[in-house]
Amino acid sequence: MEEVDITIIGAGVVGLSIASQVAKKNRDVLLLERHSGFGEETSSRNSEVIHAGIYYPQGSLKAKLCVEGNKLLYQICEENDIPYNPIGKLIVAINEAQENGLEVLIENGRGNGVIDLRIISSKEVQKLEPHIRARAAILSPSSGIIDSHSLMKYFETTAKGNNASIVYGCEVKLIEKPPEGYQVSIQDTDGELFSFLTRILINSAGLESSNIAALVGIDVDKAGYRIYYCKGEYFRVSRGKHRFAHRLIYPFPPHPGFVGIHTVPDLQGMMKLGPYDYFVECIDYSVDDTHKELFYESVRSFLPFIEFQDLGPDMSGIQPKIQRPGEPTKDFIIVHEEEKGLSGLINLIGIDSPGLTSSPAIGRLVENMVKQIL
Ligand SMILES: Cc1cc2nc3c(=O)[nH]c(=O)nc-3n(C[C@H](O)[C@H](O)[C@H](O)COP(=O)(O)OP(=O)(O)OC[C@H]3O[C@@H](n4cnc5c(N)ncnc54)[C@H](O)[C@@H]3O)c2cc1C
Repeated sequence: MEEVDITIIGAGVVGLSIASQVAKKNRDVLLLERHSGFGEETSSRNSEVIHAGIYYPQGSLKAKLCVEGNKLLYQICEENDIPYNPIGKLIVAINEAQENGLEVLIENGRGNGVIDLRIISSKEVQKLEPHIRARAAILSPSSGIIDSHSLMKYFETTAKGNNASIVYGCEVKLIEKPPEGYQVSIQDTDGELFSFLTRILINSAGLESSNIAALVGIDVDKAGYRIYYCKGEYFRVSRGKHRFAHRLIYPFPPHPGFVGIHTVPDLQGMMKLGPYDYFVECIDYSVDDTHKELFYESVRSFLPFIEFQDLGPDMSGIQPKIQRPGEPTKDFIIVHEEEKGLSGLINLIGIDSPGLTSSPAIGRLVENMVKQIL
Protein backbone atom coordinates (compact mmCIF):
# COMPACT_ATOMS: atom_id res chain seq x y z
CA MET A 1 0.00 0.00 0.00
CA GLU A 2 1.22 3.51 -0.85
CA GLU A 3 2.56 5.57 2.07
CA VAL A 4 2.88 9.33 2.64
CA ASP A 5 4.30 11.31 5.57
CA ILE A 6 1.53 13.89 6.05
CA THR A 7 -2.07 14.03 4.82
CA ILE A 8 -4.20 17.16 5.23
CA ILE A 9 -7.97 16.96 4.77
CA GLY A 10 -9.61 20.11 3.38
CA ALA A 11 -8.37 22.84 1.04
CA GLY A 12 -9.98 25.82 2.72
CA VAL A 13 -7.75 28.71 3.74
CA VAL A 14 -6.65 26.81 6.86
CA GLY A 15 -5.72 23.51 5.15
CA LEU A 16 -3.91 25.42 2.39
CA SER A 17 -1.94 27.50 4.89
CA ILE A 18 -0.98 24.34 6.79
CA ALA A 19 0.10 22.69 3.52
CA SER A 20 2.26 25.72 2.66
CA GLN A 21 4.01 25.44 6.05
CA VAL A 22 4.44 21.67 6.47
CA ALA A 23 5.48 20.96 2.87
CA LYS A 24 9.26 20.49 2.66
CA LYS A 25 11.55 18.95 0.05
CA ASN A 26 12.15 15.81 2.15
CA ARG A 27 8.49 15.19 3.16
CA ASP A 28 5.64 13.56 1.21
CA VAL A 29 2.70 15.89 1.83
CA LEU A 30 -0.77 15.28 0.41
CA LEU A 31 -3.69 17.75 0.61
CA LEU A 32 -7.10 16.25 -0.19
CA GLU A 33 -10.18 18.27 -1.17
CA ARG A 34 -13.60 16.92 -2.17
CA HIS A 35 -14.49 19.85 -4.44
CA SER A 36 -12.91 20.55 -7.84
CA GLY A 37 -10.98 23.55 -6.50
CA PHE A 38 -9.92 25.23 -3.24
CA GLY A 39 -12.04 27.35 -0.94
CA GLU A 40 -15.47 26.35 -2.15
CA GLU A 41 -17.03 26.39 1.33
CA THR A 42 -16.62 28.77 4.31
CA SER A 43 -13.33 30.25 3.08
CA SER A 44 -15.09 32.04 0.22
CA ARG A 45 -18.27 32.87 2.10
CA ASN A 46 -17.17 35.38 4.69
CA SER A 47 -16.58 39.11 5.29
CA GLU A 48 -12.90 38.99 4.18
CA VAL A 49 -12.00 41.15 7.16
CA ILE A 50 -8.47 41.12 8.54
CA HIS A 51 -9.38 41.30 12.22
CA ALA A 52 -7.17 43.05 14.76
CA GLY A 53 -8.02 40.75 17.73
CA ILE A 54 -10.06 43.07 19.97
CA TYR A 55 -12.93 40.90 21.22
CA TYR A 56 -11.43 37.48 21.99
CA PRO A 57 -10.79 36.41 25.59
CA GLN A 58 -7.23 37.13 26.73
CA GLY A 59 -5.01 34.07 26.63
CA SER A 60 -7.27 32.29 24.13
CA LEU A 61 -5.93 30.69 20.94
CA LYS A 62 -8.28 33.00 18.99
CA ALA A 63 -6.65 36.09 20.52
CA LYS A 64 -3.10 34.84 20.02
CA LEU A 65 -3.51 33.48 16.49
CA CYS A 66 -5.58 36.46 15.30
CA VAL A 67 -3.06 39.05 16.48
CA GLU A 68 -0.17 37.04 15.02
CA GLY A 69 -2.15 36.29 11.83
CA ASN A 70 -3.02 39.97 11.34
CA LYS A 71 0.66 40.94 11.17
CA LEU A 72 1.57 37.95 8.99
CA LEU A 73 -1.28 38.64 6.56
CA TYR A 74 -0.22 42.23 5.93
CA GLN A 75 3.34 41.04 5.35
CA ILE A 76 2.25 38.23 3.00
CA CYS A 77 -0.04 40.61 1.05
CA GLU A 78 2.67 43.24 0.73
CA GLU A 79 5.35 40.78 -0.43
CA ASN A 80 3.17 38.79 -2.84
CA ASP A 81 0.89 41.35 -4.49
CA ILE A 82 -2.24 40.02 -2.81
CA PRO A 83 -4.97 42.68 -2.96
CA TYR A 84 -5.79 44.12 0.48
CA ASN A 85 -6.69 47.43 2.04
CA PRO A 86 -5.97 48.43 5.66
CA ILE A 87 -9.12 50.60 5.76
CA GLY A 88 -9.40 50.52 9.56
CA LYS A 89 -12.47 49.98 11.69
CA LEU A 90 -14.72 51.93 14.03
CA ILE A 91 -16.71 50.30 16.83
CA VAL A 92 -19.35 52.89 17.59
CA ALA A 93 -21.21 53.70 20.80
CA ILE A 94 -24.61 55.34 20.45
CA ASN A 95 -25.53 55.76 24.14
CA GLU A 96 -23.84 56.33 27.49
CA ALA A 97 -23.81 52.68 28.54
CA GLN A 98 -22.10 51.70 25.31
CA GLU A 99 -19.65 54.59 25.63
CA ASN A 100 -18.62 53.23 29.05
CA GLY A 101 -18.39 49.75 27.53
CA LEU A 102 -15.82 50.93 24.98
CA GLU A 103 -13.28 51.20 27.83
CA VAL A 104 -13.73 47.53 28.71
CA LEU A 105 -13.47 46.50 25.07
CA ILE A 106 -10.33 48.54 24.41
CA GLU A 107 -8.64 47.15 27.54
CA ASN A 108 -9.40 43.64 26.35
CA GLY A 109 -7.95 44.41 22.92
CA ARG A 110 -4.82 45.94 24.42
CA GLY A 111 -4.43 42.91 26.69
CA ASN A 112 -4.46 40.80 23.52
CA GLY A 113 -1.58 42.86 22.14
CA VAL A 114 -3.56 45.19 19.83
CA ILE A 115 -1.57 48.26 20.76
CA ASP A 116 -2.81 50.78 18.19
CA LEU A 117 -6.41 51.08 19.46
CA ARG A 118 -7.76 54.39 20.71
CA ILE A 119 -11.08 55.89 21.72
CA ILE A 120 -12.16 58.86 19.64
CA SER A 121 -14.85 61.49 20.29
CA SER A 122 -17.96 62.04 18.20
CA LYS A 123 -16.21 65.06 16.66
CA GLU A 124 -13.31 62.90 15.48
CA VAL A 125 -15.76 60.28 14.20
CA GLN A 126 -17.48 63.02 12.16
CA LYS A 127 -14.14 64.02 10.65
CA LEU A 128 -13.32 60.44 9.61
CA GLU A 129 -16.82 59.32 8.65
CA PRO A 130 -19.18 62.32 8.32
CA HIS A 131 -22.30 60.20 7.67
CA ILE A 132 -22.02 57.98 10.76
CA ARG A 133 -23.87 58.65 14.04
CA ALA A 134 -21.82 57.97 17.20
CA ARG A 135 -21.20 59.43 20.69
CA ALA A 136 -17.70 57.94 20.61
CA ALA A 137 -15.90 55.04 18.96
CA ILE A 138 -12.90 52.75 19.13
CA LEU A 139 -10.62 53.31 16.15
CA SER A 140 -8.76 50.19 15.07
CA PRO A 141 -6.24 51.18 12.36
CA SER A 142 -4.92 47.64 11.84
CA SER A 143 -8.29 46.17 10.77
CA GLY A 144 -8.62 45.77 7.02
CA ILE A 145 -9.96 43.73 4.12
CA ILE A 146 -8.30 41.12 1.90
CA ASP A 147 -8.93 39.21 -1.31
CA SER A 148 -9.26 35.75 0.25
CA HIS A 149 -9.17 33.96 -3.13
CA SER A 150 -5.74 35.47 -3.92
CA LEU A 151 -4.53 34.53 -0.44
CA MET A 152 -5.62 30.91 -0.97
CA LYS A 153 -3.97 30.89 -4.42
CA TYR A 154 -0.75 32.10 -2.77
CA PHE A 155 -0.89 29.31 -0.15
CA GLU A 156 -1.65 26.74 -2.88
CA THR A 157 1.29 27.91 -5.03
CA THR A 158 3.65 27.94 -2.03
CA ALA A 159 2.56 24.43 -0.99
CA LYS A 160 3.05 23.06 -4.51
CA GLY A 161 6.39 24.87 -4.80
CA ASN A 162 7.48 23.12 -1.59
CA ASN A 163 6.63 19.71 -3.04
CA ALA A 164 3.08 19.14 -1.70
CA SER A 165 0.63 17.18 -3.87
CA ILE A 166 -2.88 18.67 -3.94
CA VAL A 167 -5.68 16.43 -5.13
CA TYR A 168 -9.08 17.95 -5.87
CA GLY A 169 -12.30 16.04 -6.42
CA CYS A 170 -11.50 13.39 -3.84
CA GLU A 171 -13.42 12.83 -0.64
CA VAL A 172 -12.15 11.10 2.49
CA LYS A 173 -14.67 8.33 3.19
CA LEU A 174 -13.05 6.06 5.75
CA ILE A 175 -10.17 6.19 8.23
CA GLU A 176 -8.78 3.13 9.97
CA LYS A 177 -6.12 2.92 12.66
CA PRO A 178 -3.46 0.28 12.08
CA PRO A 179 -0.73 0.06 14.81
CA GLU A 180 1.31 2.75 13.00
CA GLY A 181 -0.22 5.80 11.29
CA TYR A 182 -3.63 5.93 9.61
CA GLN A 183 -5.19 4.14 6.66
CA VAL A 184 -7.23 6.65 4.65
CA SER A 185 -9.77 5.62 1.99
CA ILE A 186 -10.76 8.21 -0.57
CA GLN A 187 -13.28 8.32 -3.39
CA ASP A 188 -12.74 10.26 -6.62
CA THR A 189 -15.42 11.87 -8.81
CA ASP A 190 -15.82 8.62 -10.86
CA GLY A 191 -16.67 6.77 -7.64
CA GLU A 192 -13.31 4.94 -7.59
CA LEU A 193 -12.06 4.03 -4.10
CA PHE A 194 -8.38 4.13 -3.19
CA SER A 195 -6.60 3.55 0.14
CA PHE A 196 -3.18 4.61 1.39
CA LEU A 197 -1.23 4.93 4.64
CA THR A 198 -0.21 8.21 6.25
CA ARG A 199 2.04 8.78 9.23
CA ILE A 200 0.43 12.10 10.21
CA LEU A 201 -3.19 13.02 9.55
CA ILE A 202 -4.34 16.65 9.82
CA ASN A 203 -8.08 17.24 9.97
CA SER A 204 -8.90 20.74 8.71
CA ALA A 205 -12.23 19.79 7.15
CA GLY A 206 -14.16 22.84 8.39
CA LEU A 207 -17.88 22.04 8.63
CA GLU A 208 -17.03 18.30 8.34
CA SER A 209 -14.24 18.30 10.91
CA SER A 210 -16.29 16.60 13.62
CA ASN A 211 -17.41 13.92 11.14
CA ILE A 212 -13.75 13.28 10.25
CA ALA A 213 -12.89 13.05 13.98
CA ALA A 214 -15.76 10.54 14.36
CA LEU A 215 -14.36 8.47 11.45
CA VAL A 216 -11.12 8.06 13.43
CA GLY A 217 -13.19 6.74 16.34
CA ILE A 218 -13.46 9.83 18.57
CA ASP A 219 -16.69 10.23 20.56
CA VAL A 220 -17.34 13.80 19.37
CA ASP A 221 -19.96 14.59 22.02
CA LYS A 222 -17.71 13.45 24.85
CA ALA A 223 -14.76 15.38 23.37
CA GLY A 224 -16.83 18.55 22.81
CA TYR A 225 -16.13 18.37 19.07
CA ARG A 226 -19.71 18.37 17.71
CA ILE A 227 -20.15 21.09 15.09
CA TYR A 228 -23.27 23.26 15.06
CA TYR A 229 -23.96 25.24 11.87
CA CYS A 230 -24.25 28.99 12.34
CA LYS A 231 -25.41 30.78 9.20
CA GLY A 232 -24.35 34.37 8.52
CA GLU A 233 -26.41 36.32 5.95
CA TYR A 234 -25.47 39.49 4.08
CA PHE A 235 -27.59 42.17 2.42
CA ARG A 236 -26.00 44.40 -0.22
CA VAL A 237 -26.24 48.19 -0.06
CA SER A 238 -27.26 49.80 -3.36
CA ARG A 239 -28.36 53.20 -4.72
CA GLY A 240 -24.89 54.70 -4.29
CA LYS A 241 -24.93 54.47 -0.50
CA HIS A 242 -21.58 52.61 -0.45
CA ARG A 243 -20.00 56.06 -0.82
CA PHE A 244 -21.28 57.11 2.63
CA ALA A 245 -18.84 55.03 4.72
CA HIS A 246 -15.30 53.94 3.95
CA ARG A 247 -14.15 52.04 7.01
CA LEU A 248 -15.53 48.90 8.63
CA ILE A 249 -18.26 50.33 10.88
CA TYR A 250 -19.28 47.99 13.70
CA PRO A 251 -21.93 48.56 16.36
CA PHE A 252 -21.13 48.07 20.03
CA PRO A 253 -21.35 44.24 20.39
CA PRO A 254 -25.04 43.38 21.00
CA HIS A 255 -24.24 40.12 22.91
CA PRO A 256 -20.99 38.55 24.11
CA GLY A 257 -19.56 36.53 21.22
CA PHE A 258 -21.54 38.44 18.54
CA VAL A 259 -20.05 41.46 16.81
CA GLY A 260 -23.37 42.60 15.35
CA ILE A 261 -24.38 43.52 11.79
CA HIS A 262 -21.77 45.91 10.39
CA THR A 263 -20.63 47.43 7.10
CA VAL A 264 -18.58 45.08 4.95
CA PRO A 265 -16.79 47.12 2.29
CA ASP A 266 -15.10 45.11 -0.47
CA LEU A 267 -11.97 45.76 -2.50
CA GLN A 268 -14.06 47.01 -5.45
CA GLY A 269 -15.44 49.77 -3.22
CA MET A 270 -18.95 48.29 -2.88
CA MET A 271 -20.62 47.59 0.45
CA LYS A 272 -22.64 44.85 2.13
CA LEU A 273 -24.15 44.67 5.59
CA GLY A 274 -23.81 41.58 7.73
CA PRO A 275 -23.50 39.00 8.88
CA TYR A 276 -26.78 38.25 10.61
CA ASP A 277 -25.94 35.04 12.48
CA TYR A 278 -28.36 32.27 13.42
CA PHE A 279 -28.09 28.53 13.93
CA VAL A 280 -29.43 26.18 11.23
CA GLU A 281 -29.87 22.41 10.97
CA CYS A 282 -28.51 21.90 7.46
CA ILE A 283 -26.26 23.57 4.92
CA ASP A 284 -28.31 25.91 2.75
CA TYR A 285 -26.83 29.16 1.47
CA SER A 286 -30.07 30.90 0.45
CA VAL A 287 -30.69 34.32 2.00
CA ASP A 288 -34.06 34.91 3.68
CA ASP A 289 -35.55 38.04 2.09
CA THR A 290 -37.82 38.54 5.10
CA HIS A 291 -34.74 39.46 7.20
CA LYS A 292 -34.50 42.82 5.41
CA GLU A 293 -36.44 44.64 8.15
CA LEU A 294 -34.10 43.18 10.79
CA PHE A 295 -31.03 44.38 8.87
CA TYR A 296 -32.50 47.83 8.50
CA GLU A 297 -33.48 48.09 12.18
CA SER A 298 -30.05 46.85 13.34
CA VAL A 299 -28.07 49.55 11.57
CA ARG A 300 -30.25 52.63 11.27
CA SER A 301 -29.21 54.03 14.67
CA PHE A 302 -25.54 54.34 13.61
CA LEU A 303 -25.81 54.31 9.80
CA PRO A 304 -28.62 56.88 9.36
CA PHE A 305 -27.96 57.22 5.62
CA ILE A 306 -29.26 53.68 4.98
CA GLU A 307 -32.87 53.56 3.77
CA PHE A 308 -35.02 50.44 3.67
CA GLN A 309 -35.09 50.38 -0.15
CA ASP A 310 -31.25 50.44 -0.32
CA LEU A 311 -31.04 46.82 0.90
CA GLY A 312 -31.22 43.59 -1.11
CA PRO A 313 -30.32 39.95 -0.27
CA ASP A 314 -26.73 39.07 -1.16
CA MET A 315 -24.92 35.92 0.05
CA SER A 316 -24.37 33.77 3.12
CA GLY A 317 -21.77 31.54 4.76
CA ILE A 318 -21.86 28.96 7.53
CA GLN A 319 -19.52 28.89 10.53
CA PRO A 320 -18.57 25.64 12.28
CA LYS A 321 -19.40 26.46 15.92
CA ILE A 322 -18.66 24.06 18.76
CA GLN A 323 -21.13 25.73 21.09
CA ARG A 324 -24.89 25.24 20.97
CA PRO A 325 -27.19 28.25 20.50
CA GLY A 326 -27.12 30.36 23.66
CA GLU A 327 -23.89 28.84 25.03
CA PRO A 328 -20.79 31.04 25.49
CA THR A 329 -18.41 31.26 22.53
CA LYS A 330 -15.69 28.61 22.54
CA ASP A 331 -12.06 28.79 21.52
CA PHE A 332 -10.47 27.08 18.49
CA ILE A 333 -9.52 23.45 19.14
CA ILE A 334 -6.11 22.69 17.58
CA VAL A 335 -4.68 19.61 19.19
CA HIS A 336 -2.34 16.67 18.63
CA GLU A 337 -4.51 13.78 19.90
CA GLU A 338 -1.75 11.87 21.70
CA GLU A 339 -3.74 11.74 24.94
CA LYS A 340 -6.57 9.96 23.15
CA GLY A 341 -4.08 7.30 21.99
CA LEU A 342 -4.14 8.78 18.49
CA SER A 343 -0.54 9.80 18.00
CA GLY A 344 -0.02 11.59 14.68
CA LEU A 345 -3.59 12.90 14.43
CA ILE A 346 -3.95 16.69 14.56
CA ASN A 347 -7.54 17.91 14.83
CA LEU A 348 -8.66 21.46 14.01
CA ILE A 349 -12.27 21.81 15.17
CA GLY A 350 -14.52 24.85 15.42
CA ILE A 351 -12.36 27.12 13.22
CA ASP A 352 -14.92 29.88 12.95
CA SER A 353 -14.13 33.62 12.79
CA PRO A 354 -11.29 34.83 12.95
CA GLY A 355 -10.11 31.72 11.05
CA LEU A 356 -9.28 33.63 7.87
CA THR A 357 -7.18 36.20 9.72
CA SER A 358 -5.53 33.50 11.84
CA SER A 359 -4.76 31.17 8.91
CA PRO A 360 -1.03 31.97 8.51
CA ALA A 361 -0.47 31.69 12.27
CA ILE A 362 -2.42 28.40 12.39
CA GLY A 363 -0.11 27.08 9.64
CA ARG A 364 2.93 27.90 11.78
CA LEU A 365 1.41 26.37 14.92
CA VAL A 366 0.60 23.12 13.12
CA GLU A 367 4.09 22.96 11.58
CA ASN A 368 5.52 23.18 15.13
CA MET A 369 3.26 20.29 16.19
CA VAL A 370 4.38 18.26 13.16
CA LYS A 371 8.07 18.86 14.02
CA GLN A 372 7.47 17.41 17.50
CA ILE A 373 5.85 14.30 16.03
CA LEU A 374 8.37 13.53 13.26
C1 LIG B 1 -20.37 34.58 7.55
C2 LIG B 1 -18.94 34.43 7.91
C3 LIG B 1 -18.13 35.54 8.08
C4 LIG B 1 -16.79 35.39 8.42
N1 LIG B 1 -15.98 36.50 8.46
C5 LIG B 1 -14.66 36.37 8.72
C6 LIG B 1 -13.81 37.49 8.67
O1 LIG B 1 -14.23 38.58 8.27
N2 LIG B 1 -12.52 37.35 9.04
C7 LIG B 1 -12.02 36.14 9.47
O2 LIG B 1 -10.86 36.09 9.86
N3 LIG B 1 -12.81 35.04 9.45
C8 LIG B 1 -14.10 35.11 9.07
N4 LIG B 1 -14.90 34.01 9.03
C9 LIG B 1 -14.33 32.70 9.39
C10 LIG B 1 -13.52 32.07 8.25
O3 LIG B 1 -14.20 32.18 7.02
C11 LIG B 1 -13.27 30.59 8.58
O4 LIG B 1 -12.72 30.50 9.88
C12 LIG B 1 -12.29 29.94 7.61
O5 LIG B 1 -12.70 30.14 6.28
C13 LIG B 1 -12.20 28.45 7.91
O6 LIG B 1 -11.37 27.85 6.94
P1 LIG B 1 -11.22 26.28 6.89
O7 LIG B 1 -10.16 25.99 5.90
O8 LIG B 1 -11.04 25.76 8.28
O9 LIG B 1 -12.64 25.71 6.44
P2 LIG B 1 -13.32 25.58 5.00
O10 LIG B 1 -13.13 26.76 4.16
O11 LIG B 1 -14.73 25.14 5.27
O12 LIG B 1 -12.53 24.38 4.32
C14 LIG B 1 -12.71 23.04 4.69
C15 LIG B 1 -12.58 22.21 3.43
O13 LIG B 1 -12.62 20.83 3.79
C16 LIG B 1 -13.23 20.13 2.72
N5 LIG B 1 -13.69 18.83 3.18
C17 LIG B 1 -14.62 18.60 4.15
N6 LIG B 1 -14.79 17.27 4.29
C18 LIG B 1 -13.96 16.66 3.42
C19 LIG B 1 -13.71 15.28 3.10
N7 LIG B 1 -14.33 14.28 3.73
N8 LIG B 1 -12.79 15.01 2.14
C20 LIG B 1 -12.12 16.02 1.49
N9 LIG B 1 -12.36 17.33 1.74
C21 LIG B 1 -13.26 17.64 2.70
C22 LIG B 1 -14.37 21.06 2.32
O14 LIG B 1 -14.85 20.78 1.02
C23 LIG B 1 -13.73 22.43 2.45
O15 LIG B 1 -13.23 22.91 1.22
C24 LIG B 1 -16.25 34.10 8.66
C25 LIG B 1 -17.06 32.98 8.46
C26 LIG B 1 -18.39 33.13 8.06
C27 LIG B 1 -19.23 31.93 7.78
